[in-house]
Amino acid sequence: MIVTNKDLSEFNSLQIAVNAKYYIECKTDSDIEEAFQFTKKNKIKFLILGEGTNVVFTKPYDGLIIKNSFKKEKKINKNKVKVSSGYNWDRFVRFCIKNSLYGLENLSGIPGTVGAGPIQNIGAYGEEISDYIEHIEVFNLKTGNVEILNNMNCNFDYRDSLFKKYKHLFIKNVFFKLKEKFIANNSYQDLQDYRFKKASELRQRVLRIRNQKLENYLTKPNVGSFFKNPLINKKDLKKLLSEEADLKFYKHDALIKVSAAWLIERCNLKGMQFNKARVSKKHSLVFINEDKSPNSILKLKNKVKTAVSKKYNIRLEEEPTII
Ligand SMILES: Cc1cc2nc3c(=O)[nH]c(=O)nc-3n(C[C@H](O)[C@H](O)[C@H](O)COP(=O)(O)OP(=O)(O)OC[C@H]3O[C@@H](n4cnc5c(N)ncnc54)[C@H](O)[C@@H]3O)c2cc1C
Repeated sequence: MIVTNKDLSEFNSLQIAVNAKYYIECKTDSDIEEAFQFTKKNKIKFLILGEGTNVVFTKPYDGLIIKNSFKKEKKINKNKVKVSSGYNWDRFVRFCIKNSLYGLENLSGIPGTVGAGPIQNIGAYGEEISDYIEHIEVFNLKTGNVEILNNMNCNFDYRDSLFKKYKHLFIKNVFFKLKEKFIANNSYQDLQDYRFKKASELRQRVLRIRNQKLENYLTKPNVGSFFKNPLINKKDLKKLLSEEADLKFYKHDALIKVSAAWLIERCNLKGMQFNKARVSKKHSLVFINEDKSPNSILKLKNKVKTAVSKKYNIRLEEEPTII
């Protein structure tokens, strides 16, 4: 089952061509067990990979890539759903709506697997996956044990969770608690003009907006937003507003979330090209890569980071996993 020198260009949405020393596709429990035994025996590093839409490979991977294709179960019990992590996220959202279970419709169209959703607590249009997760079943690749983490233990935050730190926890199954009655969340600006009677209407609207605003990663290789929106305190906001009255920002608990796209645009970087990478003209947080090597995209993101830091003294933090 384990193959050597696997080209990963098809397995990451930036289409960067690096090789993995070892590669295994995990479809069953015994595949996951095999991956565990292999890393233990050979004492090598490993990386769990979903659909590769939120990773940036910077060099050949000198370990085992554990590709998640685990699709054992998708089971409904009243308003609760158990789903295996290898299913495609958007198809799962569609499945829930078809079965009259609601809450996830604003998260329609986010690429990737179900199992990667909790890692950065995927979010869009005023919703986050963590609001609907009851608990998560993981295979611990350090001990070989199966463990359950309830929602509180996952340390969910803005594009963050405990899984970003504990990379040895292979998410196997996610347990959702959904709503049986559809109540539209149209709090997001682009959705406010509509009265959605059905979840499917809201889903279609979200898919249309995403299609207009974002780049299709299949034709324009990208990882979605390259940076998180930076969080600043109220004192720094006041200072920033005195210089930039039209700054775009949102409240985030006790802090302020500043639009990273706005900062990048104000540095005149929208559409900027560097070698074979460029800042999208549609959305300045999206960087398009047309290079088989990671050099162009990494230099581009460093240039953007430096420009924003120089002008605003704000350090942008990368959203995808840099490997
Ligand atoms: C065009 C585009 C639009 C996007 N829009 C959004 C958006 O609106 N909101 C948003 O939040 N994100 C968005 N993203 C980012 C991305 O879709 C999500 O982060 C998604 O969850 C990644 O899924 P994946 O299966 O491709 O994960 P991968 O890229 O394969 O992996 C991402 C990380 O998760 C880890 N991982 C993956 N699976 C597992 C598992 N089973 N167990 C443990 N660790 C695992 C990996 O090791 C890696 O660190 C977008 C990306 C693109 C390309």
